[in-house]
Amino acid sequence: MTRIRQQNVTAAQWSSNGGALGAQDLTIPENNPFGQNVFSAAVQKERLPGDVFEKLQTTLAGGEALDPSLADAVAEAMKEWALENGATHYTHMFQPLTGSTAEKHDSFFEPSGDGGTIADFSGKELIQGEPDASSFPTGGVRATFEARGYTAWDPTSPAFILENPNGALLCIPTAFASWTGEALDAKIPLLRSMDALSRSAIKALRLLGDEKAQRVFTTVGPEQEYFLIDEQYYFERPDLVTTGRTLFGAKPPKGHELDDHYFGSIPERVLAYMLETEQELAKLGVPIKTRHNEVAPAQYEVAPIFENSNVGSDHQQLVMQILQNVARRYGLVCLLHEKPFAGVNGSGKHNNWSMGTDTGINLLEPGDTPHENLLFLFFCSAVIQAVNTHQQLLRASVANAGQDHRLGANEAPPAIISIFLGAELEKAFMAIESGSGDAATPQAYLEMGASVLPRLPLHGGDRNRTSPFAFTGNKFEFRALGSSMSLGMPNTILNTIAAEAIDTLGDKLDAALTGGASLEEAVLNIVKETWTANKRIVFSGDNYSDEWHTEAEERGLANLRQSPDALPWLVEPTTVAVFGKYEVLSERELHSRYEVAVEQYITTINIEAETAASIARTMLLPAAVRWLGTLEGVNGGTGIARLTEETSGLVDQFTDAIFELEAANINHPENDSDIGAAKYVQTEVFGAMGKVREIADRLERIVPDDLWPLPKYSEILFIK
Ligand code: ADP
Ligand code: MG
Repeated sequence: MTRIRQQNVTAAQWSSNGGALGAQDLTIPENNPFGQNVFSAAVQKERLPGDVFEKLQTTLAGGEALDPSLADAVAEAMKEWALENGATHYTHMFQPLTGSTAEKHDSFFEPSGDGGTIADFSGKELIQGEPDASSFPTGGVRATFEARGYTAWDPTSPAFILENPNGALLCIPTAFASWTGEALDAKIPLLRSMDALSRSAIKALRLLGDEKAQRVFTTVGPEQEYFLIDEQYYFERPDLVTTGRTLFGAKPPKGHELDDHYFGSIPERVLAYMLETEQELAKLGVPIKTRHNEVAPAQYEVAPIFENSNVGSDHQQLVMQILQNVARRYGLVCLLHEKPFAGVNGSGKHNNWSMGTDTGINLLEPGDTPHENLLFLFFCSAVIQAVNTHQQLLRASVANAGQDHRLGANEAPPAIISIFLGAELEKAFMAIESGSGDAATPQAYLEMGASVLPRLPLHGGDRNRTSPFAFTGNKFEFRALGSSMSLGMPNTILNTIAAEAIDTLGDKLDAALTGGASLEEAVLNIVKETWTANKRIVFSGDNYSDEWHTEAEERGLANLRQSPDALPWLVEPTTVAVFGKYEVLSERELHSRYEVAVEQYITTINIEAETAASIARTMLLPAAVRWLGTLEGVNGGTGIARLTEETSGLVDQFTDAIFELEAANINHPENDSDIGAAKYVQTEVFGAMGKVREIADRLERIVPDDLWPLPKYSEILFIK
């Protein structure tokens, strides 16, 4: 679709990137690069036989399974379009459990038998691929001797062409499953969770008097933070190259204390980079909307206009990839790690999330009429209940080794999940709870028209930057995601737990209505009851403060500081129950995700620890020893007492710390997917690494600059 979609809600926006419900304006304007490389509804309309196009659109709109007879025609059109646009190869792009994207390229061309080649691409090849999947992590779902995994075309996420100076590649978004049909990726569960939520929400909407909506889509608008550094420094830092973060580095004299970077003017090279990134993304149909500097020096943010969760998640993967690719053209490297620099703000990803009907109603937007506000209160209460009930699971959904430097380490947001509603909305819920409306009626409020009803704020109003889960006017913003993470699992979890809560509230509504209550009375009673039972999760103060940690504990909220504390919640009985009930992930599939997450955590820290030990021993210790030798050599070999003593003391401590780290690395447990092993690396290995770093950073401050082998924070972060 080449139309740039507006910020306001349209049915097409919920449904897909214009790829599925292309009912509106299907024209391709000239000179507008948006969607230029997308096999969009407009392109499909132009190239597919009329009846095939119609059938495809109807199938997609209804979320039904695809008629295989359509596949050949679609494949033919897709191939012709791709060849005309310079593609020589195609790939089924999928999202294995590593959180990244995977692709295996196949040429369109085959020998024709007469010495030439012909381009061939059948419906079968479009619909299904069979990559050698043995090296993707499966958490035990697929035995290693059974290497087969299948990729299956996802027609609801449009195919696109990735350009390269030497050719182009047709990318077909696909799902990835084992031969037994178990999901091995992030897409399948996300799609299942969207279906589940839609079913529950439609059922509730009927009770609430909506007869028209046929489908409810969840939406996502991710704000992505990242660092950009000059590639020279990147190559000079083996820790960055190997682990994506600096394992050493003293705090620079200037950090972000001056707050002179946030929203500041964007340096020219960086802006050039951003513009090119955005042009590339526009061609791929990713609707980028905002860009700005972030809090830390060399930190930036980019955000698209929201889309349905599936397309939005696919696009998020593309954003991360393009951000990194384009950087290299400008001599820059884009760092997506959650904490590339200690002592400097880390990077997150704000997951703006909502639900909307195919008739264009945002269910999390307070409306203009009392009835719309009843809808809003109902669905908002469901979200509050879902988050309270499954707070630990939400925490687990954002756990990884990089995140442990943020969530559990006194940085934004904290590991305690809570909801910020804003003072006005919170007041409205409290008024419903107490049964008394608010006497004061400022203009900004909407009349809800009923006796006991308080007025709802039309706009979100106040903000709270410290909350991990904030209501922002017409959506919730789940702020605890890490910058490198795929959106798949957090949104799968959000959708599934919301579906459960909507059903619980819906059942109560059903019973009340059957019992003869009026809709208003019934909904308000349910809202009141839900609020009372779940309000402990609502907090509008400063989430970083020590008082909140104490208060949260008193309220009985979980504080799962580190990944090994949080990850087991992926397989807790309450999780297994809700995922089983909604058929989003079976117990086996949950276990596979849990095992992969634990294994990734352990492996990440193990790689960091080995890299840290090697840098410390082969680069930093020699530098310190050289300096010590110099000091000892002056004054005819008698040295400079004070400096020599200081340096030699540190060198000794450093040596001890390195030995300890090396020992911790050697004692690394055998089983890499065991939570016990995760706890071992967290306490022993991570701790030993921290000690080595602490002394190294002190040495950095005393060893002469020309001897110190690593570029320093003051250079990396400030040379733009
Ligand atoms: P703020 O964080 O200040 O509210 P914006 O209003 O620009 O900033 O929204 C930030 C992100 O939220 C954008 O990516 C935007 O597209 C997304 N967003 C807005 N509305 C929705 C919605 N209904 N569902 C999901 N994401 C949304
Ligand atoms: Mg925001």
